[in-house]
Amino acid sequence: MLAAKPHIVILGAGYGGIVTVKRIAKQLSTNDANITLISKHDYHYQTTWLHEPAAGTLHHDRTRMKIADLIPSHVQFIEDEVVEIHPKENKVSLKNNEQVTYDYLVTALGSVAETFGVEGVYEYAFNKWTLNGARELREHTEYMFAKYNNEQKEEYLTFVVAGAGFTGIEYIGELSERMPELCKEFDVPMNKVKMYVIEAAPTALPGFDPELVEYAMNLLENRGVEFKINMPISKVTEDGVILKDGTEIKAGTVIWATGVRGNPVIEKSGFENMRGRVKVTKDLRAPDYDNVFIIGDCSLIINEQTDRPYPPTAQIATQQAEVAARNLANLVKGRPLEEFQPDIKGTVASLGGKEAIGVIGDKKVFGFSANFMKKMIDNRSLWMIGGTGLVIKKGKNPF
Ligand code: FAD
Repeated sequence: MLAAKPHIVILGAGYGGIVTVKRIAKQLSTNDANITLISKHDYHYQTTWLHEPAAGTLHHDRTRMKIADLIPSHVQFIEDEVVEIHPKENKVSLKNNEQVTYDYLVTALGSVAETFGVEGVYEYAFNKWTLNGARELREHTEYMFAKYNNEQKEEYLTFVVAGAGFTGIEYIGELSERMPELCKEFDVPMNKVKMYVIEAAPTALPGFDPELVEYAMNLLENRGVEFKINMPISKVTEDGVILKDGTEIKAGTVIWATGVRGNPVIEKSGFENMRGRVKVTKDLRAPDYDNVFIIGDCSLIINEQTDRPYPPTAQIATQQAEVAARNLANLVKGRPLEEFQPDIKGTVASLGGKEAIGVIGDKKVFGFSANFMKKMIDNRSLWMIGGTGLVIKKGKNPF
């Protein structure tokens, strides 16, 4: 009698999930395993592009693609929200469907905003770095301009970005680039607009080379952005933000970009975690569960050189997905597992328009060449999930 085929279930169709599905489907035939992907929507979106639709410089449809067009036909797809994983019972509870049973699980559910205990973030700040979050923020921004025309309240034209890390800087880069056009469209003088970036740490873009940080700050300041560095926000309110020194900034729009924690499903499911991230084994499994892989923003891996966790990035999520897929095949075929070793190729942050900064290998890049690299990185990530056809359809012009 033939042994039953194992059921491999992948949660989340972001970078980690889609790349795992594509790679595992190549390594295991339909005779080896049944594969199911579960994700909240019937589309994948490029999380690393979301600052653009959020600021309104790119239509959100350019950042998303139908999952059915990305995955092989023999992979079953369930569009649903994962509510809880039951790792002791090898089951996953979903919001709208019956529980799904697995033999092997890959969890790639991404992250949510980290508030660091600041009150009012979830209630009053835009904090969802998802396609729908980006759509809502863009609509709200335009609404604020339209409202100002009727009520002339200055706070409607005040934008506060909390966090001068990667996401906050990329977002303000796009918004400040679009601002002259927005002002023109809504008949508002540019000098009425206030854009703040507020950072608790002693520098913007912590971890970046100081020369690159200076380049980015000068460029953004020239577009009208005001930085408040070394200045924690103590509260977000209906009217704006209150800083640690007691100053209140009234703002119609507060955008939260101070970092992330792993998807709340991780904590709810009882995995040992630090801020929703599981410190995975070298072969990317949850410490207590040999059949559960955790990758991407839900996982935590330590950089042995600095003894600190690697920041969660798409670069790491996709590299983990490749290893997780090979290790799933290894488990199914009874072979030894391989260890994950990140290969950080560089980091490039866009600053809106044709501007960017970054490090490729050990070389610093600015302006046009950095922007060129950023667009090539974005195109490469399309190629990884959908091949040349997807690059032609949704790719970015690097020139
Ligand atoms: P994601 O790609 O976020 O995917 C998670 C998936 O899970 C999504 O499809 C989501 O819909 C789904 N999901 C979530 N919850 C549920 C649920 N309960 N049930 C079912 N499905 C669910 N990284 C870089 O390397 N380079 C960059 O330049 C860069 N720029 C960034 C810019 C911005 C604006 C942001 C927000 C992030 C950026 N990052 C960048 C970080 C990067 O996007 C993340 O580290 C990466 O997306 C993590 O991949 P993931 O697969 O873990 O999660």
